[in-house]
Amino acid sequence: MTDPNDTRDTGPRIGTPLWAFLAGVTVIGFTALVVAMLRLDLGPLVELARTPLFWVLAVLVVLGELRPVMVSSATAVGGTYPSTMFTFAVLLHFGLPVAVLMQAVAVAMNGVVTRKAWHRVMFNIGQSTLALTAAAVVLGLFGIVPSPAVPWTPAGDDLVAIALAGVAYFAGRATLVSGAVALHERRSIARVLRVTVGPQSLVYTALLGLAPLVVVVMNHSPGLVPLFVAPLAAVYFTATLSMRRDHQAMHDELTGLPNRKMLIVSTEEALAESRHDERVGLLLLDLDRFKEVNDTMGHPVGDRLLQLVAHKLTHSVRPGDVVARLGGDEFAVLLPSIRDTHAAREVAARLRAALTEPVRLEGMTFDLDGSIGIALYPDHAPDFELLLQRADVAMYLAKEGRTGVELYLPDKDRNSPERLNLLGDLRRAIDNRELRLHYQPKVGLTTNAVHGVEALLRWRHPVRGPIAPSEFVPLAEQSYLMRQLTAYVIDAALEQAARWWHSGLRVQISVNISARDLLDSALPERLELGLAKYRLPPAAIQLEVTERILTGDQAYTQETIKALAVLGVPLALDDFGTGYSSLIRLQRLAVSEVKIDASFVRRIAESQDDERIVRSIVDLVRSLGLRSVAEGVESEDVALRLADLGCDLGQGWLFCEPMPPAEATIWLRERFQSTPEIEYGYRPEVTQTA
Ligand code: C2E
Ligand code: MG
Ligand code: MG
Repeated sequence: MTDPNDTRDTGPRIGTPLWAFLAGVTVIGFTALVVAMLRLDLGPLVELARTPLFWVLAVLVVLGELRPVMVSSATAVGGTYPSTMFTFAVLLHFGLPVAVLMQAVAVAMNGVVTRKAWHRVMFNIGQSTLALTAAAVVLGLFGIVPSPAVPWTPAGDDLVAIALAGVAYFAGRATLVSGAVALHERRSIARVLRVTVGPQSLVYTALLGLAPLVVVVMNHSPGLVPLFVAPLAAVYFTATLSMRRDHQAMHDELTGLPNRKMLIVSTEEALAESRHDERVGLLLLDLDRFKEVNDTMGHPVGDRLLQLVAHKLTHSVRPGDVVARLGGDEFAVLLPSIRDTHAAREVAARLRAALTEPVRLEGMTFDLDGSIGIALYPDHAPDFELLLQRADVAMYLAKEGRTGVELYLPDKDRNSPERLNLLGDLRRAIDNRELRLHYQPKVGLTTNAVHGVEALLRWRHPVRGPIAPSEFVPLAEQSYLMRQLTAYVIDAALEQAARWWHSGLRVQISVNISARDLLDSALPERLELGLAKYRLPPAAIQLEVTERILTGDQAYTQETIKALAVLGVPLALDDFGTGYSSLIRLQRLAVSEVKIDASFVRRIAESQDDERIVRSIVDLVRSLGLRSVAEGVESEDVALRLADLGCDLGQGWLFCEPMPPAEATIWLRERFQSTPEIEYGYRPEVTQTA
C-alpha cells in the first residue's frame, strides 16, 4: 500500500469504482460533519475558545497533522498522524462536534501546507470525521456524551468504553483508507487490510491509549499537556527508524525502486490474489549498450541515467504495478492483474517507448533502448522463480533477435520440469557456495613446463551425487543464473590466483565463460574489480570462450570483447574445430590461445584425416602468432605426435587430471622446484590483439 495521502495524481476518473468510493465517503463524511456542527452550542464553544487549553490542543492537533508516523510491513507502507492522540482526547473530553471541527481544520491546513490535491483533502476530512463519529456512537452507547458545556473526564471503570471507542475509531479509519488503496491499486481490500492492520494497530494503540491520560491531565493541570509531545516523539522516531530499516532492506539504494526481495514478496502476493479471469505478468527488462554510457561518461552519469530510467518506467505503468531493479541495468515489472498477452505486450511497448525517448543529461542526448521478456501466470509458470526464469528466456530471445519485446514461448525453451528442478538446486548450491573449482594444468609439449591451469567446476549434489558440468552448465546458460554462476567462478578463481601469486606461484588460471556471459556488459567491470580486490595483474586470469561466439550476431558480444582487451585479460578459444566458423575470422578476434577440441586430438594416432586437421589448425594458429593447446591428451603416443606437429601445449589425463586446490598447489610447487627458470603462467609475447 502506498501512502494514501500521496499527492501526485489528479484524481480518479469520474464514474470509476474508486471515484464512487471517494465521493461516497466524502459526501457521507461531510454530512456527518454538518450534523455534528448543528449540534454544537455556540455559547459554550466561545467560552471554551477563551481558555488557553483550547488553543494548546488546537496547536497540537494542527502540528500533529503535519507529518505522519509511517509504519511498514513487508510490502505495504501506511501511516497515521500523531494528531490522532489529541483529537481522540478532545472527543473524550469535549465531545464529537469540537473534535471533528478541530480535525477538519487541521486536515485542511495540512492540505494547504503540503499542497495535496483537494479531492484528497476532502476525502481525508470525510474519513476522519466518520471514524470519530463511530467512536462517539460507541461512547454514546455507554451513556457518555461529552460537550464543551459538560466535559467528561474518564475514570478507571470507563476503560472498556474507551477501548471499544478506540477500536471503532481505528476500524473506521483502517477500512476507509484501505478501501481507497485497494480500489486504487486494484487489489482486494481484505489483502490490503491484512498487510497493513498489524503494524498500524501498534501505532494506533500507542496514540489512542495515551488519549485518556491527556484528558486527565487536561482536567487536572492543562499546562502539563504539551509534555505529551515527548512520548509522541518517541513513537514517531521509533516508527520512522524501523520503517527506514525495512525500506532499506527492500529497496534499491540508487533508484529507490523495490529490489529483488520485495519483487518476490509482491509477486507472491499477486499470485495468491490473482482472480480466475486475469493473469499476473512479469516483465524483465535489460538495457542495451548501457555499458557504453558508463564507460564514456563515467559512473556518476551512468547512475543518473539509471535513476532517470527508473523514473520513466515507474511513470509508464498503472498504480499497483511494481517496477523493481534487479541490479546493474536489469529491471523487472510486475503486473499484478493483466487481461491477456495482448495487454502485456502493450505495457511492454509503452515501457520501451518511454525508454527510447531521448534524454538530455550533462548537455548530451542519450538514446537508450532495452530488451523486454514477458512471462504470464498461469499460462507460462506457476510461481515467481519460474516466471522470472521464463521472462528471462524471452528477454534473451528479444536481445539476441533484436526484436525489443518477446513473449515467452514454450517451444523456444529447452527446459523440462526436471531441468528446472536442477536449476533450482543449482541456484541454492551457488547461494550456499557448494560448488568447487578443480584445476587442470596445461603443459608445454616439448618443455614440460606448466603454462597455466584451467579451472573446472565441480558440483556434488546432496542427493544425486556429483553432476558433470556438461550437464548443468548448458542448463544455466539458458537462464539468468549464468550470470551468478560465472560471477561465482570468477571470484573463486581470482581468490585462488591471489593465493598462488602472492606466495610466488605465478600461474595463470583460465576460466570458462559462456557466450551468454559476453552479452553481459558488466563482465569486464566485474573482472576489473576482482583483479583490484585481489591485487592481481590482468594476466593472472584468462577467459575461455567457445567457438560459438564467432557465429551468432556479434555486435553485442564485440563490445564486451573489446572491453576485455582494453582491460588486458587474455581470451582463449575453446573446443576449436567443433563449430563451423571460418578460421580466417580468428584473426579478427582478440584471442591469444586456441584450444583444439579433444575429439580430434584423441584420434590423431589412428586417423590420418584427424592428424591433417590438427596439423592445419596448429599451422594456422602459429601463423597468426597465437598459442595452440591440445585438449584431452591421454597417451604418451598422442603427446609425441602433437609435439611433432608443432603444437605448443597439451592438457589431459596424461599429465594430470583436474585437481582440488590443495592437491593442485602441491603439484605446482613440485613442478616449480624442478623447473624454476620457467615463468609460470602465460607468455606475454604470444598475446595478440587484432
Ligand atoms: P572444456 O572447457 O573443454 O574443459 C575440458 C574438459 O575436458 C573438462 O571436462 C576436463 O575434465 C576434460 N578433460 C581433461 N583432460 C581430459 C582427458 O585427457 N580426456 C578426457 N576425455 N577429458 C579430459 P569437464 O570438467 O567435465 O568440463 C566440461 C565442460 O564444462 C568444459 O569443457 C566447459 O565447457 C564446461 N565448464 C566446466 N567448468 C566450467 C565453468 O566454470 N564455467 C563454464 N561456463 N563452463 C564450464
Ligand atoms: Mg575450457
Ligand atoms: Mg574444451
